[in-house]
Amino acid sequence: MPGQHKWRKRIEGHIGRWTAPREAVLDLLSRTSEHLSAKEIYAALHGKDPSIGLTTIYRTLDLINSLGFIHKIVMRDGQARYEFRTDKASDHHHHLICTRCGRIIDYSEFEKEELELIKKTENRLSKKYKFYILDHSIEFFGLCEECRLEAKPSDS
Ligand SMILES: [Zn+2]
Ligand SMILES: [Zn+2]
Ligand SMILES: [Zn+2]
Repeated sequence: MPGQHKWRKRIEGHIGRWTAPREAVLDLLSRTSEHLSAKEIYAALHGKDPSIGLTTIYRTLDLINSLGFIHKIVMRDGQARYEFRTDKASDHHHHLICTRCGRIIDYSEFEKEELELIKKTENRLSKKYKFYILDHSIEFFGLCEECRLEAKPSDS
C-alpha cells in the first residue's frame, strides 16, 4: 500500500513500544475499508500469529483508539467496530448504521448545509465550554433499505 509508509512515520513516535500486535492491528485496519470488530481482527491475526490473543487485541485497540489512530464505532448492541483513521481530510466521512443487520454505510457527499451546521455547532460549543474541538464523528442509526423492506408486512 503506497500510503503505508506515511502512517507508520506519523504513528511511530506516539505509540510507545512498536510491538508486533500494535503493528499487526494497524496494518490490518489500514488495508481495509471495512469496519471490523475485535473478534474479526482476532480471527484475521491469530491465524498468522498464534501468540496474539483476544485480550491483547482489545488492549491494543483501546490504546490506538485513545491515541486517535483509529475510529471506534459503538453499535447499538454494545459491540464496537473499528476503522483506520488517516490524517487526510478527504477520508473524513459519516456513518449510517443499520440497527437490524449491522450494516455500516460510509458517506462523504456532505450537503453544504450539513457542513455549515457542523462548523457552526463546533464554534458555538468550543466557545461556550472553552473546549478545543479536534474532530467529530457522526452516526445515524436506523434501518437499511433491505431491512426496511423485510420489516414491512408483505400485504401487497
Ligand atoms: Zn464530519
Ligand atoms: Zn439492515
Ligand atoms: Zn467508516
